[in-house]
Amino acid sequence: MDFGLTPEQQSFKHSIEQFARETVEPWAETIDRNGEFPAVVMSAAAKLGLYGVTVAREHGGAGRDYLSYTLAIETIAHASATVAVSLVVTNSLVSELIEHGARNALHAGWLKTLAGGQTIGAFALSEAGAGTDAANQQTTAVREGSGYRIKGRKVWVANAEAAGVAVVFASTQPGARREGITAFLVPLDTPGITRTSRDDSLGVRGLGCMDLDLDIAVGDDHVLGQVNQGFALAMWALQGGRVAIAAQALGIGRAALEHAIAHAKSRQQFGRPIAAFEAVQFMIADVATELDAARMLMWKAATMKDQSDDGLIESSMAKLAASEAAHKAADKAMQVLASAGYRRGSLAERLFRDARAAEIYQGTSEAQRMIIAKHLGDGR
Ligand SMILES: Cc1cc2nc3c(=O)[nH]c(=O)nc-3n(C[C@H](O)[C@H](O)[C@H](O)COP(=O)(O)OP(=O)(O)OC[C@H]3O[C@@H](n4cnc5c(N)ncnc54)[C@H](O)[C@@H]3O)c2cc1C
Repeated sequence: MDFGLTPEQQSFKHSIEQFARETVEPWAETIDRNGEFPAVVMSAAAKLGLYGVTVAREHGGAGRDYLSYTLAIETIAHASATVAVSLVVTNSLVSELIEHGARNALHAGWLKTLAGGQTIGAFALSEAGAGTDAANQQTTAVREGSGYRIKGRKVWVANAEAAGVAVVFASTQPGARREGITAFLVPLDTPGITRTSRDDSLGVRGLGCMDLDLDIAVGDDHVLGQVNQGFALAMWALQGGRVAIAAQALGIGRAALEHAIAHAKSRQQFGRPIAAFEAVQFMIADVATELDAARMLMWKAATMKDQSDDGLIESSMAKLAASEAAHKAADKAMQVLASAGYRRGSLAERLFRDARAAEIYQGTSEAQRMIIAKHLGDGR
């Protein structure tokens, strides 16, 4: 595997580093404190082409490769985990999914709007009883006239506060589980949608997570992909999303590592910087090694996505390793900072809370282990 970046990837990475430093980082603390959707930062990201990074140029996107996209997500997450995951949702779970499943002018129109940065997208799969068991959809889509009536409640819909459109999953064949679920492209101003109860979350605050109450009528042209094949579409989107969440976790983990190193060099105890103590050095060495190992998995998964749209196991491995490495990085940063980190409003505290979510959304760590174990026997 070639670990070098092309001149184009390098120059994109530099432009994102500048954006993260100058536009995202100054807002990060406010986003966390207020828990409000970061509209100003997101619209700056949209102008940079970050709403449709890998979407083809002819569909309104920036036409970049997956590795470039994940490098951008890691860089932005280093500044703000919230901004990064919001971008992951609209890119991997919405724009890429529409491009993959598009069949008509309505889909093409929304793809251009999203990838061109005019609105952000949301992905509505989870329900009260459908978390890890995502096939247990109780939202129904029943034939009505020349379209469908969709009824149900979706929970934890990231970006919902600001999104113009959502991909909504519903059961079109109750009881058939994964063979009876259909994906619908639903504009969020459709009459019959109520956005409720913004989630006051522990970390990645400001992600605009809301529940959606649905009692809506949509035409046939809102069906994305094929009827009853929506579950496979959701899994396809999540496979890409997990590579990007691995990148997001690595950005958080790298920020924690750098914070710990800086503190270890400046904090004096027993007349020496604490960085001189082997116990502190070993914490930092372990964290750096585990983050880098996870980064290799993330690069491998992104490269496989670029080369063959493959890498089911690899994307789960990347997310599992990166989210657990980020959790450890944030935990060890807290240990190195000790009382200086264990303070509300400190950077170590924010990173500690933000890192935790990566082990939960887009499939928990247990779900990733289940996917890896199940498919290792596939002869891959
Ligand atoms: C910040 C945030 C943003 C989110 N954004 C979105 C979004 O935009 N769209 C969306 O659709 N959803 C979203 N979610 C929901 C997320 O995808 C789910 O929380 C996740 O899939 C886990 O589901 P659950 O919370 O219901 O946990 P549960 O499924 O109830 O799991 C609880 C525990 O049991 C374990 N478990 C469950 N089943 C098994 C099993 N078979 N074997 C072993 N262990 C098992 C889990 O790993 C976990 O540890 C978001 C969640 C959060 C926290």
